[in-house]
Parts: sequence; structure tokens; C-alpha cells
Amino acid sequence: MVGSNSMSSLPGKMRRLSRNGRLFVMYDAQVYALHGKDVDRVLRGVGRVSSFVIPPGERSKSRTQLSRLQDFLLSERVTREDVVVAVGGGVISDLVGYAAATTLRGIDWVVIPTTLLSMVDAAIGGKTGINHGLGKNLIGTFWQPRLVWCDTRFLMTLPDRELISGLGEVLKYAGLIGGKITEKLEDFLCGGCNLEDGAVAKLVESCIRYKAGVVELDELDTGKRMVLNFGHTFGHAVETGAGHGRLRHGEALMVGLKAAVDLSQARFPGATGALTHYARLVESFQEMVPRRKLSLDRLRDALFLDKKRGKSGPNFILLQKPGKPIITTNVKLRDVKTSLRIALKRFELTGNLDG
Ligand code: NAD
Repeated sequence: MVGSNSMSSLPGKMRRLSRNGRLFVMYDAQVYALHGKDVDRVLRGVGRVSSFVIPPGERSKSRTQLSRLQDFLLSERVTREDVVVAVGGGVISDLVGYAAATTLRGIDWVVIPTTLLSMVDAAIGGKTGINHGLGKNLIGTFWQPRLVWCDTRFLMTLPDRELISGLGEVLKYAGLIGGKITEKLEDFLCGGCNLEDGAVAKLVESCIRYKAGVVELDELDTGKRMVLNFGHTFGHAVETGAGHGRLRHGEALMVGLKAAVDLSQARFPGATGALTHYARLVESFQEMVPRRKLSLDRLRDALFLDKKRGKSGPNFILLQKPGKPIITTNVKLRDVKTSLRIALKRFELTGNLDG
């Protein structure tokens, strides 16, 4: 469910899910400070609420926080008749979803995403997990939430940089979906990202519909779901090249999308005007990416050691045209490097891509 100011209709939907009226509500601490009272009040319309607060930030996707959550649930004698609710961004839905999946062999859970990135991406599709010292999201499982409730009013308190990071994912979907979403996104930007007129809810809805459709075809991410990584092969490498935490995920993704679109144009030189139009939109997003130092040596290693690479090199998701993605390893290394050099022109670079 997506809407603006839609929290008041949540209890009606949730009562059907909660069999004994007990809710374990797990909040991002910043979201709790801003919205906790209101959300608790709404959820008390469903049943007895026990709230728990998690420190914000990527570091919370850890075994330590997972243990804290599970200790809390078990000491409160959680049962499989209860419902766990995650309220926050992608960090919280990944962590809380994993705790719900692994406690008592699986407890129903609901997500109330509060960042744009989690509304369009992290809360959808059932991937849950935590990080390991050797890398991000290396421990986890698939556990679908029973309900995802998006109220875009939460976005009003989101810091600008987090909103921009989420827009990176919306930009990705615009390429994957094609058609009118590109213009809707342009209008949203031209209107100064106005969060009050319902336009953002429409964008969120289009992205969710697309992702849910892909996940239905390939829930366990063995084939078609890979298209959702459009821009990510490059984006993850850019994130690593800049040093983890120096760019938000969506910011690195915008740079990754720039490289992916250039590579698409090199691969499909006769592509339509729609691809050129989308490429221009992607270019206009580059201004939103903060300038950073970036190590090409680290980027190169990350790109060619990417965990999602195929046997014959990394998988690239390219666009034949907006709305028509393909998954391929068949790209020229020279074109990959050229696309990257163009996409990275605003960065202060060290090392080299050829090493
Ligand atoms: P996040 O959860 O860290 O939230 C970003 C920041 O915004 C935090 O500081 C948080 O306290 C704050 N915040 C959240 N909502 C707010 C609000 N309404 N008002 C004010 N502040 C608010 O970051 P994110 O970008 O939402 O998620 C990133 C995480 O999502 C990463 O760990 C990534 O791996 C994961 N992810 C998962 C999937 C998936 O399919 N499971 C997909 C994409 C990303």
C-alpha cells in the first residue's frame, strides 16, 4: 500500500494479520524520535505494542544488534502468532526482517519504510540480512513481509541527502520501466522535489509495481531478478573506490547508471531517441553526487571481484532501450573502461584502471 498520510488506514489492514494482537515494533532510533509516538498510537489500534529502538546506520546490520533484537523478542516470550514490525530505512528492514526470519523459525513481519530508498527497494522483495567483516549483506535469507505500508509523509523529515540517495534508485527504475515514468521523474525534479502533491507516491508506486513483478518471476534471485542490479555492478565498485560510507548507496548508483547507460549506447549504437533522452536525465543527476576522492585501484578490484559476477566476468545490465534491459557479460573491456572514465570525470582520481 502506498499513499500520503495513509497511516490511519493501517490498523484495518493489520488486524487481519495479527492473530493474538501482539506487535513487536522495531524502530530506527532517529525515526522513533521523530515519529515514534504517532506510529505507536496508530499501532495500538491493532493490539498490544512492545517497542524496541535500534541505533541508526549501516553498523547496526550486525550480529550484535541481531542478538539484541532476538534477546528482546525471546525474553518477551514472542510466539509465531505475533507480528514483528520494522519502522525505518533499509538498514532496519534488512536487520529486523532477518531477526523475524530466524527467530522461532520465522515470525510474520510487516515493514513501514521511512526512507525513499526503502520504499522503492529495500522493503520490497524479501531479501533480509546483516553484514559480515568480509562484506555487506553476506549473511541473510529470503523472508517476505506480510505487508509493506508506505506513507510518503515520512519523507518530509528525511535529510536531503537521503532523499537524493533514494532518487538514485528511482532513476534506475525509470530506465528499467521506460515510458512515462521518465517524464514524471523530470517533473518531480523540476518542481523542486515537492513532497506534498502526491507525485512522489505515484513514483513510488510505479517502482514497487515493477520490482514486485520481477520478484514474482524470480523470488530467489537466480535469473531475471538480476535486472534490478542495473547500474549496481558499476555503482558498488564506485562505492568501494570512494571508500565505504563516503558516498550514499544511491549517489554511487547514479554514477553507476551513467556508466551503464554509456556502455549501453556503445553496445547498441543504433539505439532509439528514448535511450538518448534517458541518458540526458541520468547526466542531469550527476550534479547531485558529492565530489570525492576515488581510488581506481580499489574500484577495479571491486568491479572484477563483484560477488554477482558470472563465470566469464561481471554481469552487466544494459538497456537496449528504456524498458528493455538485458543481462550480459558480453561487453568489450575497452568500452567498460571508457564508460567508467566518462562517469568518473567529476572525481579526484588516484591509481589506474589498467593495473
Ligand atoms: P538507512 O536505513 O541507513 O536510513 C538512512 C538514514 O535516514 C538513517 O540515518 C536513518 O536514521 C534516517 N531516517 C530514516 N527515515 C527517516 C525519516 N523519515 N526522517 C528522518 N530520518 C530518517 O538507509 P537506507 O538508504 O534506507 O537503506 C540502506 C540499506 O538498505 C543498506 O544497508 C542496503 O544494503 C539496504 N538495501 C536492502 C535492499 C533489499 O532488497 N533488502 C535493497 C536496497 C538496499
